Amino acid sequence: MVLKVDQPSVVSCSGRLHSPGLRQRLSDGSASLQKQVRLFCYHELPDWCKGNEYILRHYRADWPLTRTILSVFEVHNETLNIWTHLLGFILFAWLTYIAVLEHPGFASTSSGAQSIVTTQQAYNLPPDLSTDLPGPFPGLFSHSSVPRWPLFVFLWGAMVCLLTSASCHWFCCHCQTTNSIVWKLDYLAIAGLVCTSFFPPVYYAFMCEPVWRNMYLSAIVILSLATGVISLFPKFNHPTYQPLRAGVFSGMALSGIVPCLHKAAFLHPEPIAYFTTAAELAMGFVYLIGAVVYATKVPEKWLPGRFDIIGHSHQILHVLVVVGACIHYNTAWAYVTWREQSSCVPK
Ligand SMILES: [Zn+2]
Repeated sequence: MVLKVDQPSVVSCSGRLHSPGLRQRLSDGSASLQKQVRLFCYHELPDWCKGNEYILRHYRADWPLTRTILSVFEVHNETLNIWTHLLGFILFAWLTYIAVLEHPGFASTSSGAQSIVTTQQAYNLPPDLSTDLPGPFPGLFSHSSVPRWPLFVFLWGAMVCLLTSASCHWFCCHCQTTNSIVWKLDYLAIAGLVCTSFFPPVYYAFMCEPVWRNMYLSAIVILSLATGVISLFPKFNHPTYQPLRAGVFSGMALSGIVPCLHKAAFLHPEPIAYFTTAAELAMGFVYLIGAVVYATKVPEKWLPGRFDIIGHSHQILHVLVVVGACIHYNTAWAYVTWREQSSCVPK
C-alpha cells in the first residue's frame, strides 16, 4: 500500500516532514506511521511523551538515538531546555576551575609538599594544621586554612544537576524506557543540588559549632535521600503530579529557612549575617518563582501554542535555576572570605 505524504496523520504540525528521506520511504511503504522522525503535535504523542498540554507542537517522539543526539542542534520544543542547562553546566565548570585556581594550596605548585610550605607561610599556622592531601589538586581538601570542600560540594552538585537536566531533555524523546529513566535521574539530580546547596552556608556559618553544623547537614542529607526515594516511584513523574513535584522540591529548599534564620541570629551583628541572609532570601525567591511557574504552566497556559519554542514555563524555570545557583555561588565565596578573616579555627 502506498502512503500519501499529504495524509493528515503523517504530516507534522508545522506542515513539513522533518526527515529528508521520509517522503520517499513513506511513498514506498518502508516507514511505519509510528516510527517517523519528524516533529509531532501534542495530540499525536504516545502517553509517555505527554506532559504539558499547553505546548501544542514541535515534539520529538520515538526518535532513533543518532537523530536524538543530532537534535541538540535542531529547533524543537526542548532545544532551549537543553541549552539553558548545558550552558549553565559550562558556566559552573568554569567557576569550579576558577575556584580551584583561587585556592591557596593550588596557586603555588603542583607538588603537595611545596603546597604545604606555601599555605603554612601564608596563614602562619602550626605544622600539624598544615597537612595536605597529595594529588592533582593539592590543597583542595586542605585543613590548613578555611576548608574549601563545602564550596566544591555545592559546585559538584550544581554541575551534576545541570548536566543531568540537559541530558534528560536531550534524550527523553528516544523511547519510553529512556524517558522513564532520565526523568528519574533528573529528579535525583535536583534533590542533589538542593542538598549540596546547604553545605557552604551551613558549614561556614556554623564552622565553630559542630553540633548545629552536623545536625543541619545530616537533616538535609536524610531529607534529600527520602525525596530521592519518593522520586523513584513511577507515579511521581505523572503529569498530574507536577504541582506535587514542585511542592516536594520547594519544601526541601524552604527547609533552609531554619538554618538561615538561626545563622542570622547567631552571627548578629556581624555584617556577614545580613549580607548572606539577604542573598539567601533572594535566591529562595528566585527558586520559588521558578517552582510556581513550573507548577502553574504559565505563560503557555494563557496562550496555548504561543510559547512552544521560546518562553514556556520550563525554560523560565531552567534560567531561574541557573540564576539562583549563581547567587548561591557568590554567597558561598562571601562566607569563605569572611571565614578567612575571622579567628575561628574549624572544630
Ligand atoms: Zn528541566
